[in-house]
Amino acid sequence: MPQDDRKLTLALLVLAMLLAGRVFMVENPQHNPWAPLDLNDPRGWATSTKLDALRGDPAACQAVLARSDVAFTALPATGEGECQRQDRLTLGTMPFAPRFPEMTCSVAAGMEMWLEQDVQPLAEELLGSRVARVEQLGTFSCRRMYGGETGRWSEHATGNAIDIAGFVLQDGRRIRLLRDWDGDDAEGRFLEKVRDAACRSFGTVLSPDYNAAHADHFHFDQGRRPGFGACR
Ligand SMILES: [Zn+2]
Repeated sequence: MPQDDRKLTLALLVLAMLLAGRVFMVENPQHNPWAPLDLNDPRGWATSTKLDALRGDPAACQAVLARSDVAFTALPATGEGECQRQDRLTLGTMPFAPRFPEMTCSVAAGMEMWLEQDVQPLAEELLGSRVARVEQLGTFSCRRMYGGETGRWSEHATGNAIDIAGFVLQDGRRIRLLRDWDGDDAEGRFLEKVRDAACRSFGTVLSPDYNAAHADHFHFDQGRRPGFGACR
């Protein structure tokens, strides 16, 4: 019966599409929302959602670092009140200056992905040299936002944020936000592109475009603040 033939053809077509979809998902775990996150995989449709899910879940996050062959040292809980930190670690491998700071696991995972998949390729493409050091201004600081006496606590109060002032390239050049942001040159384009890319690795990204308080640094954090999540 032609009617039955059409039904069979349709069923086979749907089956073939399902099989092709399954093969695609196995070969491209970065697009598969159910595949475990590996920070070495290229970015895909599901990557930002998976990074987002690590916020506030140190155990799941540390499993991702281990799976991704990122060496880390988990540190014991410390502090009290609003500045209590249960989620602290250091990574030995990231090229930070003046030193590798303590941070939450989800900030570390975001940094790893941002540095390896965005910063280094963009530095090579636009500046012709890889980044040797990331100049950081700090992660942990027990204070409210903008150091006020009242108001919301900063993500820095729990080490769930990092401030970055610039980069030193392998060829010795130094890129600084205070001087090079908004420049109509390769350095300016590099800074703008790494800022844009950071929005895929961090919950909140603030740059000199956000306000004068950020004229000399990027602020990245992994806070869970519904409706906040700025990327500017
Ligand atoms: Zn900050």
